[in-house]
Amino acid sequence: MSTSSSTQSRIIRGKVEFFCNCNRQLRVQTSTSRANPGKRYVKCDLCRVYEFLDDDLPSQYYKDLVFGFFQRQRGMDNGPMIEALALEKSRLEEELKATKSRLEDELKSRKAKLELYDKLFMVMLGCLCVICVGIVEVLSTLLEVTLKGFGLLAFGKYSNHPLDSSLSNEKPGRWIT
Ligand SMILES: [Zn+2]
Repeated sequence: MSTSSSTQSRIIRGKVEFFCNCNRQLRVQTSTSRANPGKRYVKCDLCRVYEFLDDDLPSQYYKDLVFGFFQRQRGMDNGPMIEALALEKSRLEEELKATKSRLEDELKSRKAKLELYDKLFMVMLGCLCVICVGIVEVLSTLLEVTLKGFGLLAFGKYSNHPLDSSLSNEKPGRWIT
């Protein structure tokens, strides 16, 4: 950026307006820098030019005075914001703490629930195993009884059961007589 006469002023509706050579209208701003405190200027960001509208302050004393004024104003401007931000920060910290402890409690209760479900599942599995074993035992007993029943029936009907040695031995005797 450089100082140049690339800006011009025009009077529009009784008011002085500033324009860049590129025809952009420029806004009048006030410098708060240590070197040029309080001096008004216009600048064109597009052409990267600026121009001071006021003369330098008469001495360093006045420069320091005006610069101090801007510093204090900035501090006063920022003071309430800093206070509000600090309040907001502490509020957010409290909220974060509360949320953290709530989540931790929730996690604990869920863990306890899961452990309980685990135990219940194991108990149910054990019960199921016992029931299965019982059913198998009952079925095998039933099968055994049924088979025995069938065996007795068969034995009663056909007395010449091949496994019955006394009857099978008698057969040839009958055949002979
Ligand atoms: Zn321009």
